[in-house]
This record gives sequence, C-alpha cells and structure tokens, in this order.
Amino acid sequence: MTETATVTNWAGNITYTAKELHRPRTLAALRSLVADSARVRVLGSGHSFNEIADPGAEGALVSLAALPPEVDVDTTARTVRVSGGVRYAELARRVHDHGLALPNMASLPHISVAGSVATGTHGSGVGNAPLAAAVREVELVTGDGTTVTIGRGEERFGGAVTSLGALGVVTALTLDLEPVFEVEQHVFTELPLAGLDFETVMAVAYSVSLFTDWREPGFRQVWVKRRTDQPLPGFSWAAPATEALHPVPGMPAVNCTEQFGVPGPWHERLPHFKAEFTPSSGAELQSEYLMPRAYAVDALHALDAIRTVMAPVVQTCEVRAVAADDQWLSPAYGRDSVAVHFTWVEDTAAVLPVVRRVEKTLEAFEARPHWGKVFAVPGAVVRERYPRLGDFRALVKDLDPAGKFTNAFVQAILRD
Ligand SMILES: Cc1cc2nc3c(=O)[nH]c(=O)nc-3n(C[C@H](O)[C@H](O)[C@H](O)COP(=O)(O)OP(=O)(O)OC[C@H]3O[C@@H](n4cnc5c(N)ncnc54)[C@H](O)[C@@H]3O)c2cc1C
Repeated sequence: MTETATVTNWAGNITYTAKELHRPRTLAALRSLVADSARVRVLGSGHSFNEIADPGAEGALVSLAALPPEVDVDTTARTVRVSGGVRYAELARRVHDHGLALPNMASLPHISVAGSVATGTHGSGVGNAPLAAAVREVELVTGDGTTVTIGRGEERFGGAVTSLGALGVVTALTLDLEPVFEVEQHVFTELPLAGLDFETVMAVAYSVSLFTDWREPGFRQVWVKRRTDQPLPGFSWAAPATEALHPVPGMPAVNCTEQFGVPGPWHERLPHFKAEFTPSSGAELQSEYLMPRAYAVDALHALDAIRTVMAPVVQTCEVRAVAADDQWLSPAYGRDSVAVHFTWVEDTAAVLPVVRRVEKTLEAFEARPHWGKVFAVPGAVVRERYPRLGDFRALVKDLDPAGKFTNAFVQAILRD
C-alpha cells in the first residue's frame, strides 16, 4: 500500500520530502520494496522533531505499521521479540500480562520501540541506561532485501541498536525483561537550585525528574518514581504537591500518570503521560542535551544565568539522570549522564536562536544532542563527542555499501 498525501512528523514541524509513504503488509513486500529502491528510510511513530527519518525527495519513506504486529514473550528466558512497528504502549501491556516488565520507559508510551532505540531515547534514573540497553538482538532487512541478525556479544552490536536507522530496516528486536514490579509516584514543588545536592536528589528513588519553566530560579516540580520493592525515600528538599500536576504548567493533570503515591503497574507509572491521552503539550518543539553527570550542577547554574533568554519560549524543561551505556552512538555512551530537555513553544523561528544560545552555554560541558530533537550543533562538533563514531561509519559501510539507508541528516553526522 502506498500513500502520496503529505506526511508530517507528530509535532507538525517537519514535512517529509519523500513523495510517497509505503506501508507494506507483508515481510516479503517489504523485502522487495527495499531491494528495488535506491534510498530507504523507515518512519516509526514520527515523534522525532527533525529530518532524521526523511529519505529525501527521491527516496522511499516506509512505515511498518501495516505489518502484522508481533509481541512474542518467552517467560522462561524472560525476553520478548517485538516487530519493527510496535509501540511501547502495546509492548508494555503484553509483557505485563505475562508477569514481566521492561526496566524503564520514556516519558510517553506512544513511541515505536524500533524508532526509540534508534535515537537513544531514555527515561530517568541514576541506574537506568537508555531504552536501547534492554535490547539483546536486532533483525535488519539490509539493502539486498535479506535479513541480518546481530546479537549482544558480537563486536558490531555496539553500533547495531542506536543506529539512527542507517543500517537497514529493523524488522524485529529482542529485549530483556525482568519480573513485574510496582511503582508509586510522588510529586513535590519548588526545589531550590541554590545548594542543590544533585547526586543525592537524583538517587533518592528509581526514577527522578526535575522540571522548571526558568521563569523563576529553581525547579517548579520534582517527580519521584519509587519502586515499591525499594525503600521509601524521605524527600526533605521540597514540599509535597497538594494537587495532581502536569509538567507543563496549566495543562490538565488528567493526561498524566497517577500521582500521590498510589502504587500501580510499572508501565502506568514510569511514563509521565497516559497512553490514551495526548502526551506533553501537543503543540511544541523539543531539544535535549546529555552531559557527564559530574557537570550537572555547573551546567544548571550556567543555564540559570540565561534564564530570561529561555523563559519566553520554554513550556517546561526536564532534568533527568541517565546511566552510561555502550551503544557507540548513544548520547549516554560511556558517561553516566545528566539529560537537560526543553519543551519549547511551537515556533521554530523564535526557538532556534535560543537553541543556539543554550548550545553555546552547554559547549563547555561536552553536551551531546538527542538525535530525535531540534539541535544546531554542527556535525564536526557532534563527531568529536563520539569516540566510536569511526567504528559506526565502518559498520555502515559494511552493512550498507550502496548507502541505501543514509539521508542528509545521517551524512551530516558521519561525513569523513
Ligand atoms: C511528546 C514527546 C515526548 C518525548 N519524550 C521522550 C523521552 O522521555 N525521552 C527521550 O529520550 N525522547 C523522548 N522523545 C523523543 C522520541 O523518543 C524520539 O524522537 C524517538 O525516536 C521517537 O520514536 P519514533 O518511532 O517516533 O521515531 P521516528 O521519529 O519515527 O524515527 C526516528 C528514527 O528511527 C528510525 N526508525 C524508526 N523505526 C525504524 C525501523 N523499524 N528500522 C530502522 N529505522 C527505524 C527512523 O528512520 C529515524 O531515523 C519524545 C518525543 C515526543 C514527541
């Protein structure tokens, strides 16, 4: 099935230049499409805010949403094999039904698994690496239409999961699971930045997020997600919220997962937003930068110094902890990280100058931009921040010698 209507990303700030969106219904149809096309990029759930998925005007944009969705749980091995078009909401429900869990989730369950791990998507938690860390095997349809499987333990696995979609079409991923667990979510308000003991605050529970709108100093909200099988933290640095809150001030809390410490299943507490509601504000752009966690307090003070520049275009800013992983192109590669995320207003012209100012401010902290969000850091600078980029480039040449799965975004990053 092929559609010729204009296709945009979720945010609506990117219109893909590809002339057609292909929606193969079978693996065989996907293989032929790939083999017969000169340029191919997969569109996941379209939640990235830049041109990362766009194959260009002459390329084929391919959605896997019409392929049969497969979620095969192996309760003995505690793994799940999930097909390339499935989203976290569906995966989480199915895994939970088997008494199993994923270790962590992003702020929303609406996103595709393959697209999320391709860009280094993460949640929060000093002990929680990006979502790609749960992946143990990747199945890819490569340029000639055949399948290549790459598993953990192979040298090239380091480039295979957080791959920016540049190696082939990911038709399935196998993920590690753990026994089901419950989480309770507590929200606190007005945490001062002055004197912040960042490490202690972020380690107080399984997943912790700080939110600010930069209109005043300090953090408007702190979201503490405690596993009920771990100790109950005292949180003496801020006051408990007296009403349910949304991270974007003024937005309805009904969109958000249950608060006030009501225990619930992991997949209904780890994301901030409920699967059946619009996540975040719904009218927005986003940027995010990951830095070594040791720089967190200095980086937050540097941002505080440009608070008045950011405030007019920020809806909310979320600060999270991300544990290091070993995917070569992961923004958390080799570094326990602090991630500073911005939900901007939906106005590219007003936001871009502020993005550049933020990037200049964070330059000294070796910030790596989130692959799926708005950034202006030049390719040459990005390259310097990835010590294994050369290995990734070699892997791309090996698996995709014809450059079928590249695009302008990837070329700007990988250029020799
Ligand atoms: C409201 C909102 C909240 C967000 N919250 C978070 C968050 O908490 N943490 C975080 O880290 N990020 C977050 N993001 C960013 C988001 O997780 C990433 O942009 C992610 O890539 C989205 O997945 P997707 O399937 O929509 O990807 P897409 O934008 O569709 O694609 C991303 C990349 O993956 C590739 N790709 C997708 N599927 C395949 C496949 N099967 N085979 C090969 N390549 C493929 C695409 O070609 C593209 O290069 C958020 C985004 C939004 C809109």
